[in-house]
Amino acid sequence: MKLDRVGFVGWRGMVGSVLMQRMMQENDFSRMGEAVFFTTSQTGQPGPDIGRDSGTLVDATDLDALGACDVIVTCQGGGYTSDVHPRLRAGGWNGYWIDAASTLRMSGDAVIILDPVNLPLIRDGLDRGRKDFIGPNCTVSLMMLALDGLLGENLVEWISVATYQAVSGAGARQMREFIRQMGMVHDRAATLVDNPDSSILDIDRQVLETLQSADLPVQEIGYPLTGNLLPWIDGDLDSGISREEWKGSVETNKILGRGGAPIPIESTCIRVGTMRCHSQALTLKLNRDLPLAEIEALVDGANDWVHVVPNQREASLSDLTPAKVTGTLDIPVGRIRKLNMGPGHVAAFTVGDQLLWGAAEPLRRMLCILSEYGVRGQGREEDSARTARVAAA
Ligand code: NAP
Repeated sequence: MKLDRVGFVGWRGMVGSVLMQRMMQENDFSRMGEAVFFTTSQTGQPGPDIGRDSGTLVDATDLDALGACDVIVTCQGGGYTSDVHPRLRAGGWNGYWIDAASTLRMSGDAVIILDPVNLPLIRDGLDRGRKDFIGPNCTVSLMMLALDGLLGENLVEWISVATYQAVSGAGARQMREFIRQMGMVHDRAATLVDNPDSSILDIDRQVLETLQSADLPVQEIGYPLTGNLLPWIDGDLDSGISREEWKGSVETNKILGRGGAPIPIESTCIRVGTMRCHSQALTLKLNRDLPLAEIEALVDGANDWVHVVPNQREASLSDLTPAKVTGTLDIPVGRIRKLNMGPGHVAAFTVGDQLLWGAAEPLRRMLCILSEYGVRGQGREEDSARTARVAAA
């Protein structure tokens, strides 16, 4: 398919910036004719540096300008999607909408895109004329790539997960505020910290005072995050679970095409003071009591990005952390062990860059899939084994 005119909305936000970076690295702009850059706040200013002319920024609510695009890729957020997408469609726009926001994910007309896991469903959606292709929730995509080998073999009976999600998952402004919070905490305790004779309890008291003071910047995050954690992410569904936790179950099963026989997935989602990368502590119940080596081999061999970290102290502390994984497409899975709760109970810990596989990468790969769709037929035979597994699920 020829991508003559592709519109980008939300390209300077957290996800959008990483998307631009990846598209530059992979020379994706060469796959398309014109790239048009939209904005909700900077109309008329110069477009981003993409190694070729990117024009001036166009108003992201200009339906005529949006409607002139064959494809719109948006990382602007759910409010924008809710506002613009229905009006564009109502006006007859029939282009492809590729979106990082959650708004449309569970719509019957939308396909959730995680092509290493569900390329057959994506191609089936294209064949059926689907036009809305939506990136998964970040923890969902990272967990699914990590457990691809077990999910793909239909071995998972249920999953319980505790997430440790980075501040960049909340957006660019929250990330800046988090750094300002860290700065204020240090500034106010610095004299005590630098004095070797000061009491550690005085330092601790000073830090707590700063965290609880009215001066701490919390306009974006809402609460102190430095020196703290926040055990609720996204909205309150009034059922005891957060919207983020709900997504973990419904999106995973939709991606797997398991609407009729969903795998039970329960999460507790927690925002922690890491900059980038979401980590997840998983408890799995497998429907077969496989030897540990077999479980590790299935996990390790599932896709090009996942790899097993030996369940040893040194390897875990050096290779299974946000500081190690940030900026890479790697999905390390470690701490794998069988639990004494009974046969088939397994623990694992995984880390992934939620801005890459968790957000930008599925979007840019969808653009590649679109540009190849109808032009090249290859890949379909290679998918046949996975198609059969998805269909059987
Ligand atoms: P974000 O960083 O807050 O960016 C969204 C928009 O905010 C930007 O496109 C920009 O729009 C505007 N903005 C205002 N001030 C800004 C500033 N100082 N720096 C940069 N942008 C600024 O949001 P995001 O985290 O990228 O998330 C976008 C969507 O992706 C959301 O729906 C989110 O749920 C989803 N998502 C996020 C992640 C993640 O890890 N962050 C992962 C998966 C999905 P204008 O240029 O038009 O002003």
